[in-house]
Order: sequence, then structure tokens, then C-alpha cells
Amino acid sequence: MSSESLHDPVNVDEVMGRLRAYREHDAPTHGGRVLSYVYDHGRPELDEVAAQAMRLLQPVNGLDPTTFPSVALMEADLVSFGRAMLHGPAATGSVTSGGTESCLLAVKAARDLWVARGGAGRPRLVVSSSTHAAFHKAALYFGLDMTVVPVDVRSGRAPAPALVEALGADVALVVVSAPSYPHGVVDAVAAVAGAAADRGIPCHVDACVGGWVLPFWEDSGGELLPQWDFRVRGVSSISADIHKYGYVPKGASLLLFADGVLDLARYFAVTDWLGYPVVNPTMLGTRSATSLAAAWAVVQTLGTEGYAALTRRVVTATTAVVEAVEAIEGLRVLGERQGPLVAVATDEAVDVGRRVDPLLWTAAVARRGFVLQGQPAMSQADGSRVPHTAHLTITPVTERLLAELLPALVEASDEVRGQALPSPETLLGNGIPDPVALADGARAGGDLDLTTVLSLIEALPRADSAVLLSAFLQRFTAP
Ligand SMILES: *Cc1c(COP(=O)(O)O)cnc(C)c1O
Repeated sequence: MSSESLHDPVNVDEVMGRLRAYREHDAPTHGGRVLSYVYDHGRPELDEVAAQAMRLLQPVNGLDPTTFPSVALMEADLVSFGRAMLHGPAATGSVTSGGTESCLLAVKAARDLWVARGGAGRPRLVVSSSTHAAFHKAALYFGLDMTVVPVDVRSGRAPAPALVEALGADVALVVVSAPSYPHGVVDAVAAVAGAAADRGIPCHVDACVGGWVLPFWEDSGGELLPQWDFRVRGVSSISADIHKYGYVPKGASLLLFADGVLDLARYFAVTDWLGYPVVNPTMLGTRSATSLAAAWAVVQTLGTEGYAALTRRVVTATTAVVEAVEAIEGLRVLGERQGPLVAVATDEAVDVGRRVDPLLWTAAVARRGFVLQGQPAMSQADGSRVPHTAHLTITPVTERLLAELLPALVEASDEVRGQALPSPETLLGNGIPDPVALADGARAGGDLDLTTVLSLIEALPRADSAVLLSAFLQRFTAP
């Protein structure tokens, strides 16, 4: 199809036909074969509930809840559900478009409060190496300096004393995760939040990925967790993505604040222009109410019992996957992980010839029909090196596929045991690759070699790889 013909009107069947053809390029969103990005509940009726709710709210503009009170009512119900779940009976907040927006707004609110309280110069954000990239984005967008505390390589957790030591007078916010995305490790929330409170510094708990599953974890047969929610003194805000373990369509996250003053600092309001008064609780102006409606409808349908039942399946599947990986010679599960995320690293305790590289393993697992997510190695500020890993996000449908997944993990390790990744010299022998050529190769239907991409990120200076990947995506998505 030429791009010219896209401009001619076509009938509904043709439109939907074209859309289905586009969708055929996608990774499967259902069935549990992709162990990141998608959170499959395995209950088709929930997709139907979400679709009906989206259709009903399709024409509404979420910009103004006084004109469209259904938006305020749905949001209040979700905040109400969330604050009970996170043990903050008086917490207030909003539904945002996703985890990134929730994280951005948590930083924006803390920055504005810091300024309002007389902070001078540039405010600082304190995070760790495992803190989600969304906070790097927030620091950049909102003009904060950033201290990145290295994680302990063995546990995968940022040491609380190092985080606390960074809490100077210029700190507007400190961030801990429950759990971290890369390694599924719950940070030392109580120690950090308590120390922050003693210094009058807000502490954000990034529970984007854990917020809708950890609350049900222990009662669903999962391991005991340290407290990480609003019960902990000093926790001032929490982000919890409904579009992850809340099992709703993409476009919904919950951001809650313990304190109404900090919550109010999240707002943007302007009356000195010639149009309507603008009062935005989140980053967007006009916003769709469809994902809010879908989230509302799915959460109503599941209720706490529904979430507990889904979490039981996640716990069963996670236990099985962790046990299977630990039994594989040459691989190990990284860190003191808790909850539904698993990071798999090379087991350095065995002979070199018996080791399994997780990126080569990821590629071998992909040949067996399951998509794991490679994560590059990184040197931290203290010189320690966190190894590259394969990441698995376990969901309720994983349980149904265990009989297929576990043998695939084992067979893939047998295939690549003893093999090594190409050296940086080999990879960069011809200089830094051309992102346009990489993108054109991928667009031509060739499979993008993710092992090579991740190895390149490891081999290049981080600033160079970031530019390269941006240029790659610019080309990949261009007409
Ligand atoms: C997913 C995630 C985010 C970012 O959320 P998006 O919905 O992808 O924007 C932030 N923090 C953690 C811990 C996450 O897992």
C-alpha cells in the first residue's frame, strides 16, 4: 500500500482489515508467551467489560469533571479502592495516564513544595541505580539535580545508609521502589522514609509495578514482605499502575499522596490568559476518559477477591519459575527478590565452560516461543558492575503455560551453555553502527537482533547508546 492511498476514504470493513493487518506484526498480547509489557489475567470477560466501558465513555473529555461528572465519580472510586488497598485511609490523588506520568507528577509536586518552602538554587532528587528511568526523565524535564546511589550487587537493593546520607537540605524527594523493575527487589522503605521524615523530606514509593499485586501477595501464599505502603512513617506518595497488575488496558496509573498539601502542589492552574480557566490535576489538558472507564470497570468487576485469586496464580507460577531457574546449571536468580518479577544472571560460581549467558539464553528461549526481556550490564558510580540479566514478569496466565515454559527454559540453557557473547571489539570493529541501517533492517521484516543491541549498549558510552537508540526509533517509526 502506498502512503498516497491512505488519504482516500475507505469503508469500515476495509479500515478494519488494514488495522488487523497491522496488528499481525505485533507480539501476542494474550496467552503468556511474552514475559514483559503485558499483564494477562487470562479471563476474556474482563477484556469485554473494559471494551464496553471504553465505548460508553468514548466521547467524553476528561479535561473538565464539572462538565462530565462521571470522570470525577470514576476517579473517586478508584482513589477510594487504592487508598484502602495501600492503607492510606486519608490519601488523595488522581488516576494518570501511566506510570511515567505518575512518577513525573510525584517529582513535580515535591519540587514545587520544596520551592514554596523557600528552597534556593536547584533541588535534588535522590534515587538508586534500580530506580525506574521515569525519574531520570522527571529530573531532566523539571530541572532537578540527581544523586544515583549504587545498589548492592549481591542483594540488588540500595543500601539505606547510603540513601539517607544523600538527604541534604537541597533534596526535594527521595525515591524507593516496591519492587524495583529490573530485579524485583523491594527497597528498604521504612529505613529511608523514616529518615526522610526526620529531615522534612518527602519519600515516594514507586510501586508502579508492585502496587496492585504486593497488597495481595502474602494472603495468596507469597513470601512475607516488609511494609512498604502508607502504613510506613514518612511515605508521602505512592505510584501504582493499574495497567500492570491491575489488569486493565494501557493508560491508567494511580498516584496517591498521604498529605493534602503535597498533593495540591501537583496541580497546574492558570487563569491569566484569555480563555477558559485551566485547572489540570495531571500533565495533560484534554484527556480521554476511555482508559479511566476501562480501569474503573475492571476494578469493580474483580474487587479485592478477584485480585487475590489472580495473585494466587502469580505466586504459584513465580515459585515454579524461580525453582526451575535455580536448578539450571550456569544460571542464578539475582538479588533478594520478592514478588512477581525475576531477574536471571550468569552463575559465576560454576566453571566458565558451564556458565549460561542470560542474553544468549533469552535468544534461545525466544526460539522456543517465549519472549524474555534482556537487561544490559551497567557499571555503577562506585565502580561495581551489575551483570546483564534476563527479566521475567510473571502473570496469572504464566501458570497455565508452566508445562511448556519450564522445559523451554531448561532446553534453551542446554543449547547455549558455555557460549560467550561477542566481545565489544568484535561488535564495534567497524565503528558505531548506523542506527538508520539498523532500523531499515528491522523495518524490512528482519528480526531485530536484541542480543546485539543490548551488547552495543554495554559496549558504548551510555550517552552514545541513548542517542543511537533515539535515532533508531525515529527512523523505525517514520513514514
Ligand atoms: C512500569 C514502571 C514505571 C513506568 O511506568 P509506565 O506505565 O511504563 O510509564 C515506573 N516505575 C516502575 C517500577 C515500573 O515498573
